[in-house]
Amino acid sequence: MKKHNFSAGPCILPQEVFQEASQAILDFDNSGLSILEISHRSPAFVAVMEEARSLALELLGLKDKGYKALFLQGGASMQFLMAAYNLLEKKAAYLNTGTWSTKAIKEAKLFGEVVEVASSKDQNFNYIPKSFSVPDDADYFHCTSNNTIFGTQIKDFPVTSKPMVCDMSSDIFSRELNFSNFDLIYAGAQKNMGPAGTTLVVVKEEILGKVSRAIPSMMDYSVHIGKDSMFNTPSVYAVYVSLLTLRWIKANGGIKAMQERNDKKAEVIYAEIDRNPLFKGFAAREDRSPMNATFNLTDDSHKEQFDKMWKEAGVNGLNGHRSVGGYRASMYNALPLESVQVVVDLMKELERKV
Ligand SMILES: *Cc1c(COP(=O)(O)O)cnc(C)c1O
Repeated sequence: MKKHNFSAGPCILPQEVFQEASQAILDFDNSGLSILEISHRSPAFVAVMEEARSLALELLGLKDKGYKALFLQGGASMQFLMAAYNLLEKKAAYLNTGTWSTKAIKEAKLFGEVVEVASSKDQNFNYIPKSFSVPDDADYFHCTSNNTIFGTQIKDFPVTSKPMVCDMSSDIFSRELNFSNFDLIYAGAQKNMGPAGTTLVVVKEEILGKVSRAIPSMMDYSVHIGKDSMFNTPSVYAVYVSLLTLRWIKANGGIKAMQERNDKKAEVIYAEIDRNPLFKGFAAREDRSPMNATFNLTDDSHKEQFDKMWKEAGVNGLNGHRSVGGYRASMYNALPLESVQVVVDLMKELERKV
């Protein structure tokens, strides 16, 4: 039986995508070949890569606006250093909203001065700092749109004349934003877009070529752009499955429709977290993430009972990250509302039982 999958990543993808993806392993597009055994230079795969790059830009509303989309390897973690490698000449400004921002800051410091414009570390990252300014002499500003571990999300991005770099790993394609306010967006595929193994990078070309250092080819966005994201062998299968997911997003109404579904799911779970005296939310209300809802028991003595209940009900991946504890319901695009309802019903059942 299919489980209700709240895994934080790698995570649930649409069932139709799993079906089509498994078919392509046996016979890709009636070619008599598996997607796993064809050349990445074959016309069939070049078409996959080109459609994936183009569809990513189309869904984000960034077509013909000077942006290029790439599917790279090394995860979002490699983008922590690659962004700085390509953009940091002297000084960069970072907003620190959690574990991933902290890691991005650490890497950037290898390349120049890093100013932390604000941090929510004082409250174990349960909120998004609001009043800060980006220094005039910064080469760029970096932020994390959705904090997967702590369950917070930036709702209003700062207005800055500096290039804005954003790690959107855990909420890309989940909500409408004016994406043209960003100059570099990156996202590991495995949180909302596809399987692990590829990272979407969307970069505005005009911000490149401004640092004086030599950049190794594999680290150089311009090299990857020049080779249409085929500088070396890409993650063929991960890119293909990401394409299937992007097609699914488009066929199901695009980002706007995803946001409506996600808002509904978030409303249902947060309403129960707030209503049920046995639970309390972790993140500040105004900063709550619709992607990752973090919550704790008000009395930890119910933990064993609740854990048994949801595991028996076919729920997967509800445990919170070790740095927050409690629970985390990751509700990415493909997670149906019915799965959220199952968890909410279990929370109500626990209340009746204790
Ligand atoms: C998971 C995650 C990362 C790390 O991604 P990898 O692909 O494992 O390197 C970075 N940033 C955010 C916001 C994430 O959720």
